[in-house]
Amino acid sequence: MMSDNCIFCKIISGEISSKKIFEDSDLMVFHDIRPIAPVHFLIIPKMHIESLNHAEAEHQNLLGKMLLLAPKLATEHGLKGFRTMINTGREGGQEVFHLHVHVFGGGANLPKT
Ligand code: AMP
Ligand code: ZN
Repeated sequence: MMSDNCIFCKIISGEISSKKIFEDSDLMVFHDIRPIAPVHFLIIPKMHIESLNHAEAEHQNLLGKMLLLAPKLATEHGLKGFRTMINTGREGGQEVFHLHVHVFGGGANLPKT
């Protein structure tokens, strides 16, 4: 389940520290180390799934749980609106190959697209 060289698996195991904001049996959420907005956190599954390209039908509930958590935590962090982003594959700008949903917002309105 855990992937040896994966930085997010190391965050889940506690080997690398993070500013954690939520954890349950399936998911973990922590602040992005290089925020692009006043509030910027990452929702990740504890299970090592490389990217959305590697998600299967069996992960449907997990993916739904990740998305439903976004508005809950965004509200808790004072956001009235927010943006979600999932970068998939190198061509999609993905740098960490453990599935994650970016949630960010706050301050001025986000630009379109
Ligand atoms: P992506 O380009 O979608 O793969 O984004 C990876 C994100 O992970 C980037 O926004 C990084 O700032 C963030 N990141 C990388 N290492 C860490 C870390 N140790 N703790 C928190 N966020 C991280
Ligand atoms: Zn991982």
